[in-house]
Amino acid sequence: MARHLITSAIPYINGIKHLGNLVGSQLPADLFARYQRARGHEVMFICATDEHGTPAELAAAKAGKPVAEYCTEMHEVQAEIARGFKLSFDHFGRSSSVQNRKLTQHFAVQLAKAGLLREVTEKQMYSKTDGRFLPDRYIEGTCPNCGYESARGDQCDNCTKQLDPVDLINPHSVISGSTDLELRETKHLFLRQSALKDQLDAWIDSKTDWPLLTTSIAKKWLHDGDGLQDRGITRDLSWGVPAQFEGAPWSGMEGKVFYVWFDAPIEYLAATQEWADKTGGDWERWWRTDKGADDVTYTEFMGKDNVPFHTLSFPATILGSNEPWKLVDYIKSFNYLNYDGGQFSTSRGRGVFMDQALEILPADYWRWWLLSHAPESADSEFTWENFQASVNKDLADVLGNFVSRITKFTRSKFGEALPEGGEWGDQEAALIDELTTRSRAYETYMEAMEIRKSAAELRAIWVAGNEYLQASAPWSVFKTDPDRAAAIARLALNLIPLYAVLSTPFIPDAADSMLGAMQTEDRSWPLDVKAALTALPAGHAFTTPEVLFRKIADEEREEWQNRFAGMRD
Ligand SMILES: [Zn+2]
Repeated sequence: MARHLITSAIPYINGIKHLGNLVGSQLPADLFARYQRARGHEVMFICATDEHGTPAELAAAKAGKPVAEYCTEMHEVQAEIARGFKLSFDHFGRSSSVQNRKLTQHFAVQLAKAGLLREVTEKQMYSKTDGRFLPDRYIEGTCPNCGYESARGDQCDNCTKQLDPVDLINPHSVISGSTDLELRETKHLFLRQSALKDQLDAWIDSKTDWPLLTTSIAKKWLHDGDGLQDRGITRDLSWGVPAQFEGAPWSGMEGKVFYVWFDAPIEYLAATQEWADKTGGDWERWWRTDKGADDVTYTEFMGKDNVPFHTLSFPATILGSNEPWKLVDYIKSFNYLNYDGGQFSTSRGRGVFMDQALEILPADYWRWWLLSHAPESADSEFTWENFQASVNKDLADVLGNFVSRITKFTRSKFGEALPEGGEWGDQEAALIDELTTRSRAYETYMEAMEIRKSAAELRAIWVAGNEYLQASAPWSVFKTDPDRAAAIARLALNLIPLYAVLSTPFIPDAADSMLGAMQTEDRSWPLDVKAALTALPAGHAFTTPEVLFRKIADEEREEWQNRFAGMRD
């Protein structure tokens, strides 16, 4: 039995994520976690909400709530949606946890001891009226480039020019509207990533099996321009992990917190500790190579925008600590999913958001489409036509139809139990050969996290069953040779639990329904296809399931197309 530590990039707390976010990390991570569990391996699957930083503060202010209360509520909203999509986290943590605060401070101390932190004095906008430093997003003014009056301190939303707050004309505080701003000196801690550059470079070079998407992004950051830069890991904010604390080897950091990108990946460890504190489990055997994590395979899932932090900044934290923490073994990264001729847009409400998706169709429909169209080698696009076609063909016509046809046929001719009699012949031998070959291919793709190829192979496995039924035609054979028809039905009914087990990582709810209909709880992986096809004996009772997957009608598709074209309520 192998041990798999699996983490999904942690979604930011300020709002509900769209389907592009889902397929970029949480969903493929869930697929892999479910697959490894199904193969009998020990899995620790971790995700969390990323709760610190300026956007959370701003969103809470907009909602008129204290930021801690806002985060607690939004965490529960995201957790509920994750349950709806059947994301099988062992723990869904919170980066604002006590565990993360302590670990983040611990790592900072270790980095300081290793000489990898330096203090930098910078100038930043300070609001006398608000009594605080203002992060760039807390300052608005007129864009010097295009004259737009609500340009933010970091960027103009109108002309997209990157800005510095001092560039703005008539800058004012977003909090109070005050124009009483001045540049003041402020001290920050910088992580000396440049000192770790060669070590990180050699580490990335050793990852010859990583996707090119992952390594090319890391290499770009390591070598472009002046190479990997030191990075400020503190901010003048109150919402976050305090940067001044008992035992800190520095002073003068009162009123500052660690930068959200410093503490967020540490939450992978902290969330595992949260899990341990809740369950009595041992989190260090997943994370400390001196405490059992040496035999752990650690895989991270994320969108391409998160790759620099996971290939460089977070490993710099781990390596720089000089402690035996587990480093990632494999990073599976994704391109973007676009929406119907454009991009998903959270700010403009364009596209389908996770809560809306579940309101219109069950999770499996979305899981199947998203995973079978995962943006692996390039960006991919969600269109309603493609979604409708994929659901209607793959799920309803192929898998659903197979289950429906054979259960209804058997019920009408033999009753609701596997019929007795008859022999297998060449058709069955050929089917077993094909299913064996395809199952091994499916396993290879799943092991390699080749998600689209896995989906295509699974679909081919479903198709093989339909073709077998079509060719063996038990409904015709029954008239002349009922025993032979019984043998065909017995095999085909045994295919249902086999399909359920193989399909569980993609469509867990449908798999449960299929196993339920066949009245079996045997989820063992079909290593021997022939044996699996005789697992349920003659006389074993079954029930004829309700429609497994319904088709999407053209009118529905059009209605949804219009409804999600823009501006979410
Ligand atoms: Zn502008």
